Amino acid sequence: MSSPKRIGSIIVVTGPSGVGKNTVVEQVLDNVDGIAHSISITTRDKRPGEQEGKDYFFRTRAEFEKLIAQNEFLEWAEFAGCLYGTPKAWVKEQIENGLDVILEIEVQGAMQIAKQCPESVLVFLSPPSFDALKERLNGRATETPEKIAVRLEKAKNELTQRHLFNFEIINDNLEVAVSNLIHIIHAERCRILKAQ
Ligand code: 5GP
Repeated sequence: MSSPKRIGSIIVVTGPSGVGKNTVVEQVLDNVDGIAHSISITTRDKRPGEQEGKDYFFRTRAEFEKLIAQNEFLEWAEFAGCLYGTPKAWVKEQIENGLDVILEIEVQGAMQIAKQCPESVLVFLSPPSFDALKERLNGRATETPEKIAVRLEKAKNELTQRHLFNFEIINDNLEVAVSNLIHIIHAERCRILKAQ
């Protein structure tokens, strides 16, 4: 029996800054075949150790705005004073080639994806508690105390939106969180496709 050609899924991993999206996603990528990680474009300054094209594509605000005007983003959002966006053409190409694509993005962008690509899988990664998130953001020391305060304020609001997503994973144990996300991806691959 022949099945329709599989188009890859868009797997959105969202949740507040500092919750550990990147760590969970990196481990999933190391353990699952047929999946690609979308590299976002941002106007944020490069942190020490970050690399162009690996962590982000770093652009000026003017360059980013030009890309918005050219309709190059699948979604984009302003977060803590910087712009972040997902390159549309690249994601489209991967899913058309049958690869799943993970987007690791904040909540406003995730909600845009939910509207535009209703078949995407929306996963909300939650911290075990607000205090745990605070500790994590302070501990990673990638931002100034002022910027951390902005991110925590934002997180309060983001946490109230988690009911809008398909799945919630609480990141209190990294191994379990990674395993849960891998199971969600595998379950999605078992979905019966409608003929196209
Ligand atoms: P950071 O500055 O810590 O790297 O990222 C700040 C927030 O922006 C994080 O929640 C991160 O997941 C999110 N983010 C990264 N790339 C994108 C993107 O392309 N679109 C949106 N909407 N958010 C993004």
